[in-house]
Amino acid sequence: MNQNTANNYSCNQCHAGMMHSRYVTYFTRLGNELITVQNFPAYICDVCGRREYDEQSIHWLDTMLDPNAGKPTQAKRRTPPLSRPRSGFSHPMQDS
Ligand SMILES: [Zn+2]
Repeated sequence: MNQNTANNYSCNQCHAGMMHSRYVTYFTRLGNELITVQNFPAYICDVCGRREYDEQSIHWLDTMLDPNAGKPTQAKRRTPPLSRPRSGFSHPMQDS
């Protein structure tokens, strides 16, 4: 007989639980920005709670977040101006 089990597989960490396919909110960082992706496919262990993310989905996300993916590297980069205009605001002196 052909046993067709679901996509669940045993946990690599505790070897006791089963990894269940679930959709979670995935957090990642893009530079200084925190990116949250809702309904991201993941596998969660029902015993130790280990999370594993689908490799293809991670790769897809990387491609989505990286605008230079698949393109030749561009030399020009936008650098934000670091110099702040100085205001004439002076700190109040405290006399005792
Ligand atoms: Zn586990």
